[in-house]
Amino acid sequence: MVDEVGRDGADGGYETVIGLEVHAQLLTESKMYCGCSAQYADAPPNTLVCIVCGGFPGALPALNQAAIEAGILTGLALNCDIPAFCKLDRKNYFYPDLPKGYQISQFDLPLAVNGHLDFVSGGAQRRVGITRVHIEEDTGRLVHRTDASGVEVSLVDLNRSGVPLMEIVGEPDLRSPEEARDYLMALRQILRYVGVSTSNMEEGAFRCDANVSVRERGCPLGAKVEVKNMNSFRAVERALRFEVIRQIDILGSGGRVDQETRGWVEDRGLTVSQRTKEQAHDYRYFPEPDLPPLVISPEMVSTLRARLPEMPGHRRTRLAERYGIGELEAALLTAEREVADLYETVAATDGTDRARQAANWILNDLTGLQRARGLPVERLPLTAQQLQDLLDALDAGKLTGRAAKELLPQIGEGEAVLTAAANLNLLVLDEEDVIRGAVVETMEALPAAVNDYRAGKTAAIGRLIGETIRRTGGRASPDQVRRVLEEELSGQ
Ligand code: ADP
Ligand code: ZN
Ligand code: MG
Repeated sequence: MVDEVGRDGADGGYETVIGLEVHAQLLTESKMYCGCSAQYADAPPNTLVCIVCGGFPGALPALNQAAIEAGILTGLALNCDIPAFCKLDRKNYFYPDLPKGYQISQFDLPLAVNGHLDFVSGGAQRRVGITRVHIEEDTGRLVHRTDASGVEVSLVDLNRSGVPLMEIVGEPDLRSPEEARDYLMALRQILRYVGVSTSNMEEGAFRCDANVSVRERGCPLGAKVEVKNMNSFRAVERALRFEVIRQIDILGSGGRVDQETRGWVEDRGLTVSQRTKEQAHDYRYFPEPDLPPLVISPEMVSTLRARLPEMPGHRRTRLAERYGIGELEAALLTAEREVADLYETVAATDGTDRARQAANWILNDLTGLQRARGLPVERLPLTAQQLQDLLDALDAGKLTGRAAKELLPQIGEGEAVLTAAANLNLLVLDEEDVIRGAVVETMEALPAAVNDYRAGKTAAIGRLIGETIRRTGGRASPDQVRRVLEEELSGQ
């Protein structure tokens, strides 16, 4: 029994081969072939449906330009060629959530081909070939439930029917479950950077089918098993790990792995057979007669290429070099494009240690507060302007470090940092008299510490500084308090 799979995927002379197919939901306003809204998340069932996405006979589809552009942008971000000509095809099958009886997809001439994705896995640089990127439409959904009279019913909700999807097919270049996970994370990050998909996994906006086989080193590819139904990175990794071990066990005991589709059962931690090669679908693809083929001009491709943002891998390296921050910090700061944008706006301030300060504040304080508030990962609780003002106030001595940390969670949305600090009485007291008054009070309250200090135990000043600051409500700066204290202590 094999129970460990190495990072290189090799075990007992076997090599793991993985190729992933990813479906990502495109962030367009309307559906793929009609004008219905594609934002179905909170809509009551069957309220976003028309004759096209409802599959009425004779209704004609119209192409969504934004979806085509998103597909091309993705292809370009994945270093693909964009063929000058592509077309749409019907993929026929019967299912109750598929009202037309077919999906309009792309078969032999997709939007983008022949690319690659570079990513880091286990500290090493890796490259996976991208076979193709094509656009298609989502199906509706079945809701299974027990109705009021106790009868089990299946209800159809067509709000998702016709929502734009793209499929990204990768070459079988991955060699371990960890590598498959790292590839998926890098791919999802790129889609979010380009802004073509939220790729939110819990909402099903980023779904993966994983193909996996094992072979003896140097031998031709083995029969692949396709694993479906995984909805987290962890599930993909676990499912693949299970499947690799299962396949090696079969081969190791002289058996043969059959080509089949298997489903991942999360709570049991195993895959089960869903359909074998003999039961495979015959989709009877043919060109979609209701939509014209697409001619993609070089001008359109170059216009879209100009819209691509800097890719996350490049940005990570650049930030580390330009701002002198560590690799790990750079990776964390570039995880989301919006966070990296905010960081760079603040870090670029001249003549200060802003790059370091901003990295610390974002990674230690802002992300902690973001988590506590349940904000989405791309949204920090301060704007760039607010963080800048906070750091300016610290540099100018208007806020102590302690007061800044106390202030942070109380800064309202869009509120000016100094206004918030003033309202909360957190600005540094710079009136010398007030501080001197607090110092005198402190010396009266703590005569023992005063005597200790005057007797040469100068460390006692720490207690006096602490008490004075406490008496000012934390608003006096430690340096100023020390100076006034030293004056008063040596005064007699
Ligand atoms: P199918 O025609 O069954 O859909 P494809 O050749 O289109 O198969 O490949 C689908 C996916 O399976 C791709 O992501 C590809 O990388 C992967 N794949 C193909 N052959 C293998 C294999 N022997 N082992 C693992 N993955 C494979
Ligand atoms: Zn519609
Ligand atoms: Mg395929």
